[in-house]
Parts: sequence; structure tokens; C-alpha cells
Amino acid sequence: MTAEPDGPEDRLRRFATIWSRAVFPVTATSLTRPEFEQRLVPLARRLSEALRARTFDSAEGQAVGAALIDAHCTEPEALSRTLDCVDAYLVLYCGGDGSQEALRTRSARLQHAMAAGFARALRERTLTEQEAIARAALQAQGVVADALHATEARFRAVFEGAAIGIGIADLDGNLLQVNNALLRMFGGTEQLMRGRKVTDWTHPEDAPQVWRLYEELVRGDREHYHVEKAFYRPDGTVLWTNLTVSLLRDADGAPQYQLALMEDTTERRLLNLRLRYEATHDALTGLPNRTLFFERLDKALSAGEDMRFGLCYLDLDGFKTINDSLGHAAGDRLLVEVADRLQSCATAPGEMVARLGGDEFVALTTGPDTEREVDALADRIMNALVTPVRIDGRELTVRGSIGIVEGPAGERGPAEVLRSADITMYRAKSAGGNRYELADPEADARAITRHGLTTALPAALDRGEFFIEYQPLVRLGDGGVHGAEALVRWLHPQHGVLGPDRFIPLAEHTGLIVPLGRWVLEQSVRQAREWQDRHTGAGPVRINVNLSPCQLTHPGLVSDTVDILERAGLEPSALCLEVTESALIGADDDLLKPLRRLAEMGVDIALDDFGTGYSNLANLRRLPVSILKLDRSFTQGMQQFPADPVDLKIVEGIVSLAHSLDLSVTVEGVETGAQAEQLRILGCDTAQGWYYARPGPPDRLHELALVDATG
Ligand code: C2E
Ligand code: MG
Ligand code: MG
Repeated sequence: MTAEPDGPEDRLRRFATIWSRAVFPVTATSLTRPEFEQRLVPLARRLSEALRARTFDSAEGQAVGAALIDAHCTEPEALSRTLDCVDAYLVLYCGGDGSQEALRTRSARLQHAMAAGFARALRERTLTEQEAIARAALQAQGVVADALHATEARFRAVFEGAAIGIGIADLDGNLLQVNNALLRMFGGTEQLMRGRKVTDWTHPEDAPQVWRLYEELVRGDREHYHVEKAFYRPDGTVLWTNLTVSLLRDADGAPQYQLALMEDTTERRLLNLRLRYEATHDALTGLPNRTLFFERLDKALSAGEDMRFGLCYLDLDGFKTINDSLGHAAGDRLLVEVADRLQSCATAPGEMVARLGGDEFVALTTGPDTEREVDALADRIMNALVTPVRIDGRELTVRGSIGIVEGPAGERGPAEVLRSADITMYRAKSAGGNRYELADPEADARAITRHGLTTALPAALDRGEFFIEYQPLVRLGDGGVHGAEALVRWLHPQHGVLGPDRFIPLAEHTGLIVPLGRWVLEQSVRQAREWQDRHTGAGPVRINVNLSPCQLTHPGLVSDTVDILERAGLEPSALCLEVTESALIGADDDLLKPLRRLAEMGVDIALDDFGTGYSNLANLRRLPVSILKLDRSFTQGMQQFPADPVDLKIVEGIVSLAHSLDLSVTVEGVETGAQAEQLRILGCDTAQGWYYARPGPPDRLHELALVDATG
């Protein structure tokens, strides 16, 4: 016989076979095993389809869980075996070739849905059964004389044969009769039960209304009630029940007896607790997981006045290296050890530790005093990590970075708190790790807007949110306007106008600087051409445009620039590109080549912010530069009177060196007339600063130039 590979249908049937074998022994079904298996096939198919469906639908899992009850699988053991079977085999036999991780997650969700469907269907069925029994019991009480015997016989049959516990007591609570099912539940004998009083059966977990409802019933003010109630068995163990108590009246309607129907829910409760535990704990470390942590945090954050919370967000330093070099098994053991140590750090009431995933853990403390406690908690955690962890004969040093957030309840939501903790943890990491940092709302805000701005940048360019302001460059010799520097701004829909220092570094980081820089160049060149057209008398107005280091290395720089100049009809000598000194320090010939090409075409290249980069002055000769822009810090030294003589000497030295190399000198940041005069005396050629004009819209420059031309 040749082995044919199984098709999906074969595999589905194999799954149904395994399932039926596991569950059949614990069912109350009258079907044979093969018949029972046939009943499971369509259920298996539903599970298989739900497992691979594009979107998860919990109704499918719930329906399968409910169908188990219809198939007489009413024992909690049947559910438990079903879930084990689904957990172990569903993905294997019915998963197809989807992502294993996604399938496993889906399988876990299906199991939870099945358990919920099972529990609900069982409850509904039990209630229906209870109603039927209560009706029979009530009928038995209201008998007419001649039918008494027959009805009583029927009642006895129901009473003794019922799978549900039944007890009858008088209105003083003396127990008169109990059936076998009830005796079995309590694990006692009839002697032990008889003569006991209902009111002795208190339990610490009784809900407050349990005994109030009881009083109302025996007074005759209520016909029945339904509660979930625990009892102590004679051996001291606890029995959980769904309890329905009804009032039995005599023929005249006067209250006479109470009838209790109880269903044993102990195992189902344990199963629910287990399911709940599994859904809220991390399988590897046994710590509470993200779900449970968020529940607790949410509770802590909505606690009343005067309550506070403190959160330590821990991420191990270099955990990936351990995983990569020693393998995942070693990584897992390390995490388990760390989890144990963390747990021992947070044992006081109101404290908890959870694993959020990967190598991320959190410790939470709550109460009125967390300002002090959270620091102590972080100290304990750092101390707990100090001793190396032994794995496979190696001593591994564990380090971690912690972000701490502390504050009053009622101000922030869980997501916001966790984000702040996360940002702070990264701050601790970038400060070198193995330390904790305290959240700082300002640093948070900066990081948040930095993140927000970065993601908003690309769309901002498409939506036309950038604009350019122009700041005049003035000749120190005759005070005439020589040109203008283009300075880009972002009109952000929420934050208003943002200066380039806020977003240029982000644009450089994300690469958006290339299209943004090209746009600035295009706009400013067109603007320069417009000034020339409108105002021919004042001589050519030149335009300075800043270039970012990323643009320097972009292969399209030269061709884009030529193209833009040609399309606007502006001669290359009207354009000056500003490059910061730091971008050119140590630049090799390859980097300088495009600049050199542009310089050869007649474009001026200015070395911006000169004096901040400590470049070798002798190096200037190598660079294709024709203008030095002295950084604002030099001008600042001249603000007071008399000016700092050392500053004066330096500027004088730079100017004479520049002139000897045929470079002209522009000064930035001129804010007073005294500064302007001083710089003129020192031999600077051009100046820029608030003394002349702040950066502004293009027509302002036009006005300035007009004044200059006529005045
Ligand atoms: P920068 O090229 O050195 O530009 C001069 C900066 O000094 C401008 O700041 C200007 O507003 C400011 N300033 C001018 N006069 C005075 C003054 O008298 N006192 C003081 N305190 N400041 C003065 P802004 O506009 O914030 O630009 C900052 C930097 O952003 C620029 O420095 C430039 O490096 C960069 N930048 C601006 N636009 C662009 C652009 O389109 N592309 C690139 N890559 N960078 C740009
Ligand atoms: Mg500049
Ligand atoms: Mg500058």
C-alpha cells in the first residue's frame, strides 16, 4: 500500500477521532462512539474554519461550546478534555500553512470562547431543569385527595431520581428531607444531614443579599430566589452551588415549607478559575500578564482621592545578545529567574509584578504613600538583579533599565501612564542603561511631539504646510540689501508655526529632507527671480538657501539644482548654498565633488555657522567655498560695551585670513547698531540679523530693497 498524503478533509476527520476518543468516556450520551464521532465532525469543521477565518468571531467558538451540552457532554471534565484536545491538535491538523504564532493565538481565543459558550449553555439547561422540578414539586403539594397517591409517587420518583440536589425544610429552617443527589454533593449520610438547620449553613463568601432573600421568603414576602452559594461539607471542603429556593404554600395559600434545588458548580468554578488564571498569567514565568496588569493599573488609576500609584517599567539591557548567543532556552531560563527575583521585590499589599512580554516587566505599587515607596521598589529591583544568574555553568550578569512614573490616581489613563514609563525607560537606556530614571512630563511631551512630528512630516509636505520666510543680507559698506536667506517653517495644524530646529533634524533622520530641501530650493529660486523681475533697478537680489548634509550626498544634487535654476531662469551666480562647517569637516574629495561642480558653474558656497566646528583654518583652501558665515556666538560677544577684546581679536584674525583666501565674510545675529558698527570696522562684508529685519514674508524684503534703492 502506498501512503497517500492526507488531504485537509482527512486531517479534519483525524482531529474529530482524537477528540471523540478523549471526550466519549466522560459523556452521558446514548450514542455509540462512532456515532458520537460523527456528531463531532461538523463541530470540528466549524473550529477549523474559525481557526483560519480572516477575522476572529468568538460566536463560532461559543456555538461549538454550547453544542457540546446538546451532545450530552455536560460534565466539566468533558470541556476540560475538549480544550486540551483543541490546544494540542487543532493547529496541527487544521492549521494549514498560516503563521504558527497567529494560529496558536487564534486557537487560544477559540478555547476561551468555547468555555464561555459551554458554561452559558449549561447554566440555561440547568435552569430549565430546575423549573421543571419545581413545577412538579408544587403540583405535588396542591393535590386533590383522590389523586394524592399517584401524584406523590410521581413526586417521589422525581425527588429521588433527580440529578439535582433537593432539600425540604420548614419555615424555621429545620431540614426535613433531602434526596440522594444532595447527600452525594455534601458527601454526608442522611443522619448527618437530618436535624440540621438551614441557617447554620453560613459561609464567609455568602453575598450580602443571600440571607436577606432567605428572610423574605420564610416570611412569605417572596416566592423564590436564586443565588450562587458556597457550603462547607462535613469534611471541611467547600461545595459551590447554584441554589434556587422556593416557598411552598398549603391549600389555603399559607406558607408551609421551603424547597431548595441545588446544582453542584464546584468543578465548573474551578475550571473557570483555571481558564481565568491561564488567560491572565504568563505561561513561561507564571507572573501576571499584560491583561491582568492593565486591569490592576486601571483600578489603581481610578482609585479614590488621596490614592496614588507608582510604576517601575523594567527592560533588561542586552537581553537580545543573550538570546542570540546562548539560545532561546537559556534566554527563557534567565527570564524565569528574573521573574522570581522580581516577585520577591513586590510582596507588600498593593504591590504586584507582571511580565508585559519579551524582556519587559513592570512592578506596580499603590496606596497613599507611593512617592516614597516607588523609589524603594526600584532600588530593590536593581539590587535583586546584581547577583549574576547561573545558566549552564555560566555566570550571566543581568542589567536592566527602569522608567519610573508616579502620581495621583484619577489624572491619567493606563495607556498614557505606560507610554510615559516606556519613554522614561528609554531615557534610562540611552543614558547607558543599568539605572532608573524618573518620568519628567516635559521630557515626555518633547518625546511625544517628536514622535508625532516625525510621523506627520511626509503628509505635511504633500498638504503644503511648509512655508518660507526671508531674512535680508545687508552690505555693511553701504547698508544696501544684498540678498536674503531662505528659512523654512512648518505651519503645523495643531502646534502652530514650528521653527526649523524642531523638524529639520527629524526630516534628516527620516530622509524627508531631500524632497523638502528640493522644494525650498525651488520656491526660493523662483522668489529670487520674481524680485529681479519686479525690481530691476536695485541690481540682482541674491538668494541664500541652506543645504543639509544628507542633501550633499544625494546623487541628484547637481542636476536638480541646474534644473531648478534653468526652469526659473535665474543665473547661477544669484544663488548661494549654505553648508554648515560641521558637515564639511573631514570631508573627502568625493563629498566635495558636487559642491565643486556647482561652484564651477558660478553658484556661491557659504560655510555656515563658521567657528563652531573647530575646523582647521588651513583646510579652508581645499574647500570650494567663497563665503564664510561667522556664527552668532561671535556677534554675541560684542553685545556689551566695550566688546570683549579677545573676541574682537579673533574676528579680526578670521576676517583677515578669509580675505587673504579671497573669501568674503558674512556675520549672523546682528541685533544692535553698535554691533553692526563694530563688525564694519573689523572688515566684515555682509551682515544679517534682527537689527535689520527678522525673517519675514517675501514682500517685506521687496519693500526694504525699494527703500534702499531710493534712499
Ligand atoms: P542658520 O542658517 O544659521 O540661520 C540663521 C538662524 O538665525 C535663523 O534661525 C534665524 O532666524 C536666526 N537669526 C537671524 N538673525 C538673528 C538675530 O539677530 N538674533 C538671533 N538670536 N537669531 C537670529 P532659524 O530660522 O530658526 O533657522 C535655524 C537653522 O535651521 C538655520 O540656521 C539653518 O541651519 C536651518 N534651516 C533653516 N531653513 C532650512 C532649510 O530650508 N534647509 C535646511 N537644511 N536647513 C534649514
Ligand atoms: Mg543658514
Ligand atoms: Mg548660521
